[in-house]
Amino acid sequence: MGKKMNNWRADFPILAQKVNDEPLVYLDNAATTQKPLAVLQTVRDFYENDNANIHRGVHTLAQRATERYEQVRQKVTDFIHGNDWHEVVFTKGTTEALNWVAASYGATHVKAGDEIVLSYLEHHSNLVPWQQLAKKVGAKLKYIELTADGQLDLQSAADLITDRTAIVALCHASNVMGVVNPIQAVSQLAHAHGAVMVVDGAQAVPHLPVDVQELGADFYAFSGHKMLAPTGVGVLWGKLALLNEMPPLEFGGEMIANVGLYETDFKEVPYKFEGGTQNIAGVIGLGAAIDYLQAIGLEQITKHEQELISYVLPQLQAIDGLEIYGPQDPSLRTGILSFNLTGLHPHDLASALDMDGVAVRAGHHCAQPLMNYLGVSATARASFYLYNTKEDADLLIKAILDAKEFFLNGSC
Ligand code: PMP
Repeated sequence: MGKKMNNWRADFPILAQKVNDEPLVYLDNAATTQKPLAVLQTVRDFYENDNANIHRGVHTLAQRATERYEQVRQKVTDFIHGNDWHEVVFTKGTTEALNWVAASYGATHVKAGDEIVLSYLEHHSNLVPWQQLAKKVGAKLKYIELTADGQLDLQSAADLITDRTAIVALCHASNVMGVVNPIQAVSQLAHAHGAVMVVDGAQAVPHLPVDVQELGADFYAFSGHKMLAPTGVGVLWGKLALLNEMPPLEFGGEMIANVGLYETDFKEVPYKFEGGTQNIAGVIGLGAAIDYLQAIGLEQITKHEQELISYVLPQLQAIDGLEIYGPQDPSLRTGILSFNLTGLHPHDLASALDMDGVAVRAGHHCAQPLMNYLGVSATARASFYLYNTKEDADLLIKAILDAKEFFLNGSC
């Protein structure tokens, strides 16, 4: 069994502070998460005791650093149920991972006239790289529609995915609508038509158990900083055969086997992609974050977020003038809630909440096509994680009601 729920918050020193004289209520976890002591101490311990560059030194510190870095590759493989540690490429984050798939796999496998199928839910980092590729090779983009309550429309997916489809690229969980996409069903459609399934797991891996093989993913990308690890580290997982076919994109130290004056042989996967000095401490911190999450258990984390959403959603739904985007049934949602209060710009709402110590995001959430689809330019977004509590939810509701009273009912 995992740790007791009410212990988790105490592991995050940053949460103990006051903001604007109010206790901090951190609800911007879809943007980035806070770091537990275990991660902070691991990074510090690495720099205090083992810091050296990896792979290239025979001295003891270099060996220790290399061992600590490479251990995380196996840890990631086990965490997402990959087959083999060679399938795990360390990147800066989801954005870099998806860009690499588009610019390397895409540029060598997608031809003029091929189709790339995305959805209206996509974050710009799973959209712009495909636009760029489509322009470069003359491919066509198609977008899977959403149902009336903001879920992926599987019928639309079935209609759009055809023998012309080369790539289907979808988020596993939306960073705006709080929905989890039926990746397994879509990857079956993709594979039936010979297409490759690319999954943006940035909002899924931190919150639910992920099994890349069960999902039928060919590529799966995620970011460490959204799952308690430091910024600047992420993962591209890919099927070995596909990674082997991909040319590297960054050339330099570390990724080469032999360099002549006119020709170079590259190392094997994953090293051929990891040119230059890597974010060694970040990767080691990611390992500590995975250990922390696994000690609690991803099922426990999903359950905790589900309890919070079931508690907060009906109360938000009861606020007159508050529109909540995505499914209204809490069981269909992750811990992300996007909303707008009629008559108040989401930036003003977020600033008002900040005055009460409540940190939420306002904006287009790097999903402008989705904003257009919803007919808004921006929303406010509260996103919960394992260290959030019902008290946080109560303070969010109170802050929204205060803002409504102040701005809209003229009590100023
Ligand atoms: N995809 C989704 C669904 C996201 O929420 C984010 C981060 N907001 C990204 C991709 C990009 O992640 P990063 O900025 O860590 O590369």
